[in-house]
Amino acid sequence: MIHKALALAALALSAALPAAAQEQVLNLYSARHYSTDEALYANFTKATGIRIQRVDADDAGILARLKAEGAASPADVILLVDAARLYRGEVDGLFKPIQSKALDEAIPAQYRAKASAEGTTWFGFSTRARVIVYDKMRVKREDVDTYEELADPKNKGKVCLRSGSHPYNLSLFGAVLEHLGEAKTEAWLKGVVGNMARAPKGGDTDQIKAVGAGECQIAVSNTYYIARLMRSTNPDDRALMEKVGIVFPNQASWGTHLNIAGGAVAKHAKNTAAAVKFLEYLASAEAQNYFANGNNEWPTAKGVKVDNAALKAMTGGGDFKAETIPLAAVGANQVKVQQMLDRVGFR
Ligand code: FE
Repeated sequence: MIHKALALAALALSAALPAAAQEQVLNLYSARHYSTDEALYANFTKATGIRIQRVDADDAGILARLKAEGAASPADVILLVDAARLYRGEVDGLFKPIQSKALDEAIPAQYRAKASAEGTTWFGFSTRARVIVYDKMRVKREDVDTYEELADPKNKGKVCLRSGSHPYNLSLFGAVLEHLGEAKTEAWLKGVVGNMARAPKGGDTDQIKAVGAGECQIAVSNTYYIARLMRSTNPDDRALMEKVGIVFPNQASWGTHLNIAGGAVAKHAKNTAAAVKFLEYLASAEAQNYFANGNNEWPTAKGVKVDNAALKAMTGGGDFKAETIPLAAVGANQVKVQQMLDRVGFR
């Protein structure tokens, strides 16, 4: 009995410790799992004294967890990949709008949520392009240098794609909808389905490997998967990258589709000031180097450039024309796109 009383007294004591004496902790829910992110968090802690406690899950897992936890959620900051998911989190009310002059100045408007009177809910901190990969021996580059040609009868039976409902494709198709309008986009999606070499399965890397294996001749992939294969020490990956060509589509029209990885402050954050500080840190040149370059992506913060050999090789050393539509509009198109996919039978 004495033991129990002592333990209770000790518990009461620790609970009564003043907040200032306790270490400040930021609870981060992250869908990003890259080794360079470790250095990113360590540097933030070094600069601010705020320790980061991380919960790792995939994007869907994080959104589900936030919904289940509700107001009791310990989450302060949320990191997600893909504009479609950031938009979902926003409309599901999982984010707290914030006011930050530093973020408004650093992150171009096309890479953040539409601001309301209360502020902005999410900000993109890196971009990835969604490009076309093709078999150099069997496909002419000029036959695949636009997204529109994925639906052209000349490419019948040649195309491999992951599921249409995957957020990367929902965002690409949502962008196409912004550029072409509803009727043309649905006709295009129907054409794409008609050109498939096989039913959608696997991730982006699987589509590139299917081109290498001769199962199809044309695929679509995010650039960082291509960069990973280019930087791989596995001879099979090297051979695969020798075999395929990469094209940044729509250089003569609206530009290549870009997507983002980004962050938001959680709706029920207990440490809002520290959470905003963390997002502002992500826009700094140092953090952009870990966040964007670490996953072979491009930085979003104005004036920040990274030196990445794989990205340079992919673009032929130069810049490419990227689309300029706001990703908030792309996210907002996903419901319409999903209905079109159901109508044209794109699984
Ligand atoms: Fe990915």
